[in-house]
Amino acid sequence: MTCLQCTPTVPPVLTAYITHSDCARHEMGAGHPECPERLSAIQDHLLIKGLLDYLMPYDAPLATLEQLGRAHARGYIDELIDSAPVDGYRHVDPDTNMNCHTVQAALRAAGAAVLATDLVLSGQTPTAFCCVRPPGHHAERGAAMGFCFFNNVAVGIRHALNVHGLQRVALIDFDVHHGNGSADILREDQRVLMCSIFESGIYPFTGEADNGPNMVNVGLPSRSGSEAFRAAVTDKWLPALDAFAPQLIYVSAGFDGHREDDMGNLGLVEADYTWVTRQIMAVARKHCRGRVVSCLEGGYVLSPLARSVAAHVAVLMGAD
Ligand SMILES: [Zn+2]
Repeated sequence: MTCLQCTPTVPPVLTAYITHSDCARHEMGAGHPECPERLSAIQDHLLIKGLLDYLMPYDAPLATLEQLGRAHARGYIDELIDSAPVDGYRHVDPDTNMNCHTVQAALRAAGAAVLATDLVLSGQTPTAFCCVRPPGHHAERGAAMGFCFFNNVAVGIRHALNVHGLQRVALIDFDVHHGNGSADILREDQRVLMCSIFESGIYPFTGEADNGPNMVNVGLPSRSGSEAFRAAVTDKWLPALDAFAPQLIYVSAGFDGHREDDMGNLGLVEADYTWVTRQIMAVARKHCRGRVVSCLEGGYVLSPLARSVAAHVAVLMGAD
């Protein structure tokens, strides 16, 4: 018989959940798929699934110019901030617009990755999920594109490397689109291993030629489905990650490869996001005490987005 008073209480392992209301004030026009409702759909579903009670909520801070400058050219940062419209929209590319709240939202999104890094590396939590927008993985060192302004994961990664002094950080990107911005920023940085899987032949039409010494970019044909996705993870990512032995893992968590999301056509389902997150966590437990920082990227049909994020977060927090 166990005496409850004598039983040492083990605090539950909580995942940090970092977001900010400013992230919902950036919008790019009626009907734009990268819409503020993405965040509320995710949060509502996490609540319904009973997961939100087990997440540690944090407000995303504003990234500083110094933090942004580790991933972006200073001239680009200044130009973006200075060009924010007072009202209406400024068109950055055919799909990417700024409103008067965009800069604040983008600073919060990048700041979330910095805070997540600090929380995980200080031991306050092993895992963190940044539920933020705008997304980041298409943003290059000197260019906004593809709904992205600052490359949130790259800002977080450089914070881990340059401020916390880590020597090996992995970036895993399972968005249906290639993370051209992350590759642009991190390609020459041998402290980083980038592993991505994306659909070939769709926006941004890059990635196939990015297999440098620190890049494992795998393009899959349209309609590849779960089996090919899992085989690519097993055959391409996992051996590279094991050999690299990362001290921290970042995830560019895009869910637009879901079969109900019309942005791509990979044909993935929630079970694939559960499975891939389990693989990531297994690498993290083996090499870096389970430390994972995940940042939301794509995913545009609200219901599958919310369900897929819940599947991903449940594994991050050890509930699945
Ligand atoms: Zn995407």
